Amino acid sequence: MPTSSICPHCEGEALYRHRHVAAGAVRGVSLLPDLGSFAVYATMTVVVCRDCGLMRFFTDKDARANLESSSAWTRIGRSKTSD
Ligand SMILES: [Zn+2]
Repeated sequence: MPTSSICPHCEGEALYRHRHVAAGAVRGVSLLPDLGSFAVYATMTVVVCRDCGLMRFFTDKDARANLESSSAWTRIGRSKTSD
């Protein structure tokens, strides 16, 4: 979660957040595949800047806990292969 209430793009101070947003829909794209639990999408907090529209996503703690065990996600910079 951002600790600052200043937009990193325009330095505006009108930031709004919405917590625990599902990161997918039955007929849509999942933004956080394989990080939820059975039949439950992972959740995230969305922060929007009213001034410039910059939108940021912060994956909730429960979903982040699944990153290490998920085969769908690759940690950047620690891979044994070159891709
Ligand atoms: Zn902004």
